[in-house]
Amino acid sequence: MRILVVEDEIHLAEALATLLKKQNYTADAVYNGEDGLDYAMSNIYDVIVLDLMLPKMSGLDVIKNMRREGNDTPVIMLTAKGEISDKIRGLDSGADDYLAKPFNTDELLARIRALGRRRGEVVQPNAMTFGDIELDTRTLTLSCGGRSIKLTLKESELLEYFMANKNTVLSKEMIIEKLWGFDSAAEANHVEVYVSFLRKKLKFVGSRTVINTVRGVGYSLK
Ligand code: CA
Repeated sequence: MRILVVEDEIHLAEALATLLKKQNYTADAVYNGEDGLDYAMSNIYDVIVLDLMLPKMSGLDVIKNMRREGNDTPVIMLTAKGEISDKIRGLDSGADDYLAKPFNTDELLARIRALGRRRGEVVQPNAMTFGDIELDTRTLTLSCGGRSIKLTLKESELLEYFMANKNTVLSKEMIIEKLWGFDSAAEANHVEVYVSFLRKKLKFVGSRTVINTVRGVGYSLK
């Protein structure tokens, strides 16, 4: 899963991003509402953790703009002490969940998992299947029949992205955004390299699942 943290207390934003990465999530952090909305509208996130009081644009305005534009990415709104959460609920902003600061990080992680599941990309918490393969995103293990092999984090993220988008051709640009974030310096040849690694590992476990190249468009899992 890819998670966006929008929080103007930079040390908190960075601490949350670090915590999420330790859980094998991909996490980006931005520090004001305008950037939050820009990143959210890229539509590459599975869950957004959004602070209420933000410079440039409030969390409520971020979410209202997202929903108005048809972006339904699940949002957990963070509220500071004194920003009464009942009042926020009453505003019916479109947030999916609320958490008051200071919060317990285990609680935040549990809510992120719950929203990620609701989104439907993760059928089971850690294991995904497609055709004859199984991917455990927690242990980064690819299995087929009795054979298995360890993947790197990026390989696992790439395969998870393919598995979550069955029968869809994913362009190199989409893959770069999903895996490296959208202002990263990653280029198309990064994608080619990781696709070739994954193909070798699929072959190693004896899978009949292949990553097809759709010339000029991208890749799809078959
Ligand atoms: Ca704030």
